[in-house]
Amino acid sequence: MAAAEGTIPVLIVGGGPVGLAVAVELGWRGVPCLLVEQGDGSIADAKMFATGIRTVEFCRRWGFAEKVKDWGFPRDFPFDNVFVTTLVGYELGRIKVPTIAETHPPACSPEQFAHCPQFIFDPLLAAAARGFPSVTLRYRCRLESFAEDAEGVTVELRDVASDRRERVRAGYLVACDGFTSFVRKTLGIGMTGRPVINRSANIMFRTPNLAAIHDKGNAGRYVLTGPQGPWASLVPADGKTLWRLMVHGREDWDADSIDPREAVRRAAGRDFDFQILNVGNRTRRRMVADRYGHGRVFLAGDAVHVMPPNGGLGMNTGIGDAVDLGWKLAAMHQGWGGAQLMASYEDERRPAGVRACDEAIRNLERYSTKADYSHVLDETPEGAAARAEIGRRLTTVNRLAWDSPLNTHLGYRYDGSPICVADGPPPPEPEDARHYDQSSHPGGRAPHAWLADGRSTLDLFGRGFTLLRFGRDAPGVGALADAAAARRLPLDVVTLDEPEIATLYARKLVLVRPDGHVAWRGDAPPSDAFALIDRVRGALATPGPN
Ligand SMILES: Cc1cc2nc3c(=O)[nH]c(=O)nc-3n(C[C@H](O)[C@H](O)[C@H](O)COP(=O)(O)OP(=O)(O)OC[C@H]3O[C@@H](n4cnc5c(N)ncnc54)[C@H](O)[C@@H]3O)c2cc1C
Repeated sequence: MAAAEGTIPVLIVGGGPVGLAVAVELGWRGVPCLLVEQGDGSIADAKMFATGIRTVEFCRRWGFAEKVKDWGFPRDFPFDNVFVTTLVGYELGRIKVPTIAETHPPACSPEQFAHCPQFIFDPLLAAAARGFPSVTLRYRCRLESFAEDAEGVTVELRDVASDRRERVRAGYLVACDGFTSFVRKTLGIGMTGRPVINRSANIMFRTPNLAAIHDKGNAGRYVLTGPQGPWASLVPADGKTLWRLMVHGREDWDADSIDPREAVRRAAGRDFDFQILNVGNRTRRRMVADRYGHGRVFLAGDAVHVMPPNGGLGMNTGIGDAVDLGWKLAAMHQGWGGAQLMASYEDERRPAGVRACDEAIRNLERYSTKADYSHVLDETPEGAAARAEIGRRLTTVNRLAWDSPLNTHLGYRYDGSPICVADGPPPPEPEDARHYDQSSHPGGRAPHAWLADGRSTLDLFGRGFTLLRFGRDAPGVGALADAAAARRLPLDVVTLDEPEIATLYARKLVLVRPDGHVAWRGDAPPSDAFALIDRVRGALATPGPN
């Protein structure tokens, strides 16, 4: 239902990447929303660097994918992952990764993975959000309390500078307020998993030309490996002068006790000219919220899932939450969403959160591969043999995390969702995270293919539902279109006469949701068009077969 007069349809708490993505998705759909963020939007401690391919696909939809892929990071900077004892020490192994200039989208996507650190990505999202007239961003504004009832949520906000308080009425509250989520705690929703795996220190530093002090060449990641195993990773932030060293400790480690200058010198293996900019302490956890919301309050991003940063999945999973929530909230605002639609958010996104956490843990295990590292520094033939073996093991296992893990980012599915119509058993998850088989099986991401006019099939999806008809002799869909119109569900019917794409999609009719996931497919129209339309818009209390 549209929000009552004087009510903001959606209030978003938290202006991190996930809250901003919810604002962009709602703004793109013309849904009025207010985002409140207690900070001023500046980012001192950039956490996220790896923007996943699905996130870049969403940025394509929002109109700024090019800026995410090519924001000023040098196009000829190699992204190799290099295992070293120090920058001036032994090279143990190397996973080759191409430069931006050499990278091309894989066959399954119009986009590609991007290195876009949070200090670039968040401002891009904020600028996009501000560009939509229906979005308001308020910084230095804190959510202090909220109370939910059947029609909406009453929220108390406090302006941080003036201490002025005001009450605001919202149709829905979306909390993207991070791991310590006040909203989640107020709802009494617990998180299950491992609250502490280990701790690390994030050291941001600046140096005029790091590549000049060693012989390994520029790289996307150096993994510093000593007799105790991998102990730190060093990654470029801007490809010029800014770097981040992440030093790993144990569960009981006090990251405050670290001497950041000494850690940077230890990683380099020599002294050099550099300036420490920031030191952030991090705790690696693996936790998923027991519920993704309550009534008219929904939780997204780190508020509901936290995982080790290995593989760069935290924010990217939160962006998936934002997109799932976005179209459903728009459907409710526009009046075509059914009573069960919002509940399907948890059905779909909680398993995706669990899946990402599991993969992050596997990546952490790959990173800390067990091996005998004790002779890694020995200047003996045995030491050389140990280095070769360690390098081989580390490169072999970590390739699965760092060498375009397409299935990790594109392969999450909504099998079992009450608003998707199952069509036999879902395709199995491949053993190798780099292999992603496109499929039109309901619940999964609809396949990408290039159309004759140069667009991607993905460019057809988004504003409403899209019903693809393959071939000029594809069955008529008049009854489905009529049922959609009767329920005010926005539906575009697109006929594609491109045989290769028809083969890829495997059915004559495929119904794609606004988030680009397949809702239903068949070779003939459903026997009950209204039942299908009501199912995919969340209006059936107990979904039946179609
Ligand atoms: C070292 C490190 C590296 C990482 N690398 C990657 C990576 O490469 N790729 C990736 O996908 N993920 C990565 N992550 C994870 C990623 O940083 C997080 O998943 C992401 O920042 C979560 O975004 P969020 O918007 O949910 O929460 P946050 O970024 O935590 O934002 C929450 C916001 O809510 C605001 N807030 C909280 N309470 C209130 C309130 N009451 N009122 C108003 N505002 C409030 C806070 O000020 C904050 O700005 C990494 C994490 C770490 C620690």
